[in-house]
Amino acid sequence: MELEAIIGLEIHAQISSKGKIFCPSAANYFGKEPNTNIDPVCMGMPGQLPVLNEVALLKGIRAAMAINCKINKYSHFDRKNYFYPDLPKGYQISQFEFPLSENGYLEIETSQGKRKIGITRLHLEEDAGKLTHYQGGTLVDFNRAGVGLMEIVSEPDMRSSEEAVLYAKAIQQILRYTDASDADMEKGMMRFDASISLRPVGESKLYPRAEIKNLNSFRSLETAINFEIERQKEMWEAKEAPKNDTTVGYDDIAGTTFFMRNKEGSDEYRYFPEPDLPPVILEEDFLEKIRETLPEMPEVKYRRYLEEYNLTESEALFLIEDRDLAFYFDEVLELSDDTKKSTSFVLSILVGRLKKDNLGLKDSKISSTQMAELIKKVTTGEISMNIAKGDVFEEMYLTGKSSQQVIEEKGLKSITDEGEIDKICQQVVAENPKSVQDYKGGKENALKSLVGQVMKATRGQANPQLVNETLIKILKQN
Ligand code: MN
Repeated sequence: MELEAIIGLEIHAQISSKGKIFCPSAANYFGKEPNTNIDPVCMGMPGQLPVLNEVALLKGIRAAMAINCKINKYSHFDRKNYFYPDLPKGYQISQFEFPLSENGYLEIETSQGKRKIGITRLHLEEDAGKLTHYQGGTLVDFNRAGVGLMEIVSEPDMRSSEEAVLYAKAIQQILRYTDASDADMEKGMMRFDASISLRPVGESKLYPRAEIKNLNSFRSLETAINFEIERQKEMWEAKEAPKNDTTVGYDDIAGTTFFMRNKEGSDEYRYFPEPDLPPVILEEDFLEKIRETLPEMPEVKYRRYLEEYNLTESEALFLIEDRDLAFYFDEVLELSDDTKKSTSFVLSILVGRLKKDNLGLKDSKISSTQMAELIKKVTTGEISMNIAKGDVFEEMYLTGKSSQQVIEEKGLKSITDEGEIDKICQQVVAENPKSVQDYKGGKENALKSLVGQVMKATRGQANPQLVNETLIKILKQN
């Protein structure tokens, strides 16, 4: 019997608003002492009322639009009741019956071609605290409790771990492009739950699934899914296919999943509308204004780089993978109006230099405006390419000075004055009778050597084209 895997993903991503979703404590708790980033609201003190953070709502809407979800004009928050020591109120404020958005999709490019993955919903909720288990007991840190989350639930449309990873990566990119989440997996800002079941090829019904909880890297997402597919395959082959939905954990070190519990149905959470928050009512005009501020999405950008600017696939891919770099490149391109030089200065020279120092774009002192000005100075012949790439770029990189300032301070402006170049060429010809003789004897290389001498005499500042022409003229007269 041939079996196929049916995979769905639930992604939790922290919203990059300044404050938590219903209270003023900071959403960025990274590096803080445990239990210092808290207030009475997220600690569930009696009588404290939540207030929805408008920025968090806005970011949720932006992300939902970017994954093609329909934004609901009416949504509200619900209490999801369960007891766990990392949940101060005894319930999580989430959305159940009326989520912020529904019915989206994403397209991904897999080794088997294009695949369309349905997205059931994106809703808003709050994060819980963090438990640390150690030999003597368990420690709890509430710094994370109340941080805004987007829960993005996919349809069971994926058939392999490859598709799941590509889909998860696409979501991460989109969350970054829309500025909805930093989605830094190492900081736990994005986590996955993967549901997996198998079925005989050709059937359309769904069989009981195992949900793997809390995967926090693309690598563990991939290995956990592969392990679970194999485990269930063996069960099917032994005629012991899973009989009910289960929740399983993943052991990162062993690379295996383990049984945790039979899966809760939604009834067990006793959802009911959150009485302390008003419903969210959104008007079309408001949504339209948000839609207009969405940036170009990575997939569209990628196509544009290939089709309009003839970048190679690897150049385009490299750019879109880093949102900030792609936006920087677009600005340099727009201001300099020179694709080839922008690609070279941003992708090879700047990125290469940063890499050498183990730095990222955010550490660079060269603004997109300054970079474009540097490129324009090469285009107009004010400085040579070699000087731009060398001395000028390096000084800009180290000091943050503008190209204009560097050129003036170091006297690097190209010599384009014909009289001056003629004078230097005459001198070089007079000082190198051997090369002159060789050139006249038909050795083309001798000219190159003379050009080199002139460039050396002018510290690379002479316009090479002009030097070439002037030398030929002088040699003919000689
Ligand atoms: Mn959730």
